[in-house]
Amino acid sequence: MAKPKVAFYWCASCGGCEEAVVDLNEDILKVADAVDIVLWPVALDFKRKDIEALSDGEIAVSFINGAVRTEEQEEMVKLLRQKSGLVVAFGSCAHLGGIPGLANFYSREEIFQRAYKEAPTVDNPEGITPQLRVKEGAWEFELPEFYDTVKTLDQTIPVDYYLPGCPPPPDLIMNAVNAILTGQLPEKGAVLAPNKALCDTCPRAETKPEKLSITDIKRPWEIKLDPEKCFLDQGIICLGPATRSGCGETCIRANMPCRGCFGPVDGVIDQGAKALSMIASILGVEGEEKMSEADVNKLLDRLVDPGGTFYRFSLPASLLRRKRMEGVRE
Ligand code: SF4
Ligand code: SF4
Repeated sequence: MAKPKVAFYWCASCGGCEEAVVDLNEDILKVADAVDIVLWPVALDFKRKDIEALSDGEIAVSFINGAVRTEEQEEMVKLLRQKSGLVVAFGSCAHLGGIPGLANFYSREEIFQRAYKEAPTVDNPEGITPQLRVKEGAWEFELPEFYDTVKTLDQTIPVDYYLPGCPPPPDLIMNAVNAILTGQLPEKGAVLAPNKALCDTCPRAETKPEKLSITDIKRPWEIKLDPEKCFLDQGIICLGPATRSGCGETCIRANMPCRGCFGPVDGVIDQGAKALSMIASILGVEGEEKMSEADVNKLLDRLVDPGGTFYRFSLPASLLRRKRMEGVRE
C-alpha cells in the first residue's frame, strides 16, 4: 500500500521548528518509514514544480511553520492547501504570528530603513533597498513582495490543526503524527496540546500565593532568582496564567519565566489582553494597603516593552493585529 504523503514547509521563521523535527531523534526514522516525504526544503531537494505536479488533496498532511510575510510564502501555502488533505500550523509563528509577528509594530518602510540603512553593521552608501525587479546586464531578477503586515497561517488559508510552541516539543509532534496516521484526530480546529493553563502543571504552582500582589517589577537578570518560587511572587513577569500547558514547563525548569509561546487556552481570543488583565489585577495590591496611583504609574514604568512582553508570540492573532499606521495595508 502506498504510504501517506507528507510535506514540511517553512515561511517566516527562524528554523527552530525544523530543528524540532530533527530533535525527534530515532523517532524520525519511524516517521520516515511510515510516510513518503514530498517536500522538506531544509533537508530534501524537492521543488515547487514537484508539488504542482501532484493531484489536489494528494498530500495527506502538510506541516507548515512560520508566519506569512511575503508573496512567495502566500503562494506556497495556498498551493499546499490545495494539494493537502490536512494542514497543520506547526509552531508559534504559524499558529499566532510568533516573534516575526512583532514586526507588526512597524511598517515595511520602517523595517527597510532600519535593516538596510540605519543598523550599525550596515554598509550601504547608496541606500539600496530590496526591489521587486532588478535588471543587471542580460539578467533580470525578481523578488517576492515583502508585505506590510505579518499574518498567521489561518489568516491566509484554512488550517485543520495547530501544534503550538516555539518550537513544538518532540512528544507533541509524535502524538500528532500518530493521531494523523491512525485517524484518531480531535475535532477540526483543535490545538494539539492540553487545554489547561501552564500554572496548573507548573512545578512551582504550590508556591504561587492565592492572593498575589506585585509591588515591584524586576527583570530576570536584576535579581538572584529563587529556583523554587513562583516567578510572579518574585516580581518577575511570568505569562503562565495566560498560557496553554504542554511544553513540559521547559523555561520554568531552566529557571526562566514563561513568555507565552504555547498561546492561550481554548476560548481566549487575545492572549496578550488576558496576560495584561492578569498583571493589572495583582499590581500594587499590598495586604490591605493599596498603592497610590502615582506609585502604580512608577511601577508601570518598570515594565519594559509592554507590547513585546504581552504579545511576544501573538500580535498578528490578537485583536490589535498590528499598529495602526497611515498608508499601511492590512
Ligand atoms: S506564574 Fe509562572 S512560575 Fe508561577 S505558577 Fe504560574 S507558570 Fe509557575
Ligand atoms: S514555559 Fe512558556 S515560553 Fe517556555 S516553552 Fe513553555 S509555553 Fe513556551
